[in-house]
Amino acid sequence: AKDAGGNEHCDYEPSLHANAEEKRQLEFSLRKALERGEMLLHYQPVVDAKTEKVVSFEALVRWNSSEHGFVSPGKFIPLAEDTRLIVPIGTWVMQEACKEAAGNWPSHVKVNINVSPEQLLEPDFAATVVQALSHSGLDPKRLEIEVTESIFLRDASVARKALEQCMALGCSVALDDFGTGYSSLGYLRKLKFSTIKVDRSFVQGAAQQSRESLAIIRAVVAMAESLGMTTTAEGVENEEEAEMIRSLRCNKIQGYHFGRPMPATDVRMLFVRSNAE
Ligand code: C2E
Ligand code: CA
Ligand code: CA
Ligand code: CA
Repeated sequence: AKDAGGNEHCDYEPSLHANAEEKRQLEFSLRKALERGEMLLHYQPVVDAKTEKVVSFEALVRWNSSEHGFVSPGKFIPLAEDTRLIVPIGTWVMQEACKEAAGNWPSHVKVNINVSPEQLLEPDFAATVVQALSHSGLDPKRLEIEVTESIFLRDASVARKALEQCMALGCSVALDDFGTGYSSLGYLRKLKFSTIKVDRSFVQGAAQQSRESLAIIRAVVAMAESLGMTTTAEGVENEEEAEMIRSLRCNKIQGYHFGRPMPATDVRMLFVRSNAE
């Protein structure tokens, strides 16, 4: 209902107005987050499906805002992408994660880093990767860049070139959230991804005996195999799902069942302990 007097525009849509205002405030804080040291990384293990040994950790950014408290990536990553703040944030993630992996992890453990389209399409993207590698001393073979199908929606040839430059350095590239977005089967032909990450929605479906989910995972695994790529199942939360994924012959597994995203110090402790065994 319309209140008496005042601005018609905001009286009609109070919730929309509140959202825009919240977004504006969030953006204001996000602009200062890096310099204030409010960003940090958590790391989630990726295990070999057969041996259950950790093969990699995926870096997942966290924002502890002095004004808004803990803000989930689901909320601030889209905002960072809209405002292009993802470019400096992404560069920081790249530097920080490479440093952590090179300095504190065993050399057989890789690091996976998420890269947004806005970041990948920057002309100097490959240069920031080169710099992160040289500053940290990380072996390029230990760095896997994760991109989603959405990178092919905009400037596909620029995206492809940037990824090929990274591959030329020795890094690998994973196709994230496979099957949830715009399907880019054509790009599987043109770009040599090392890994296809099967989205959690298919894992859940398969565990619930959904014929469609099972068929799709089977097809993705077969396709990956014949293309010389590996598969990682995302979001495996329990033993039932893990068993299903093993039977479908995914190569790697990630999910709460094998480990939640954790602070860098916890990862280091894990390695200290496994050394002491
Ligand atoms: P993603 O790359 O698909 O990352 C996996 C997400 O699933 C993470 O959410 C992780 O915490 C969550 N997850 C892992 N295992 C399970 C499970 O067993 N069950 C369930 N329900 N969830 C699980 P998170 O950390 O909230 O990140 C959300 C998204 O934000 C990421 O999705 C990624 O797209 C984006 N993101 C995170 N860090 C970065 C970053 O540094 N750069 C960019 N560009 N995007 C990032
Ligand atoms: Ca990811
Ligand atoms: Ca994913
Ligand atoms: Ca996702």
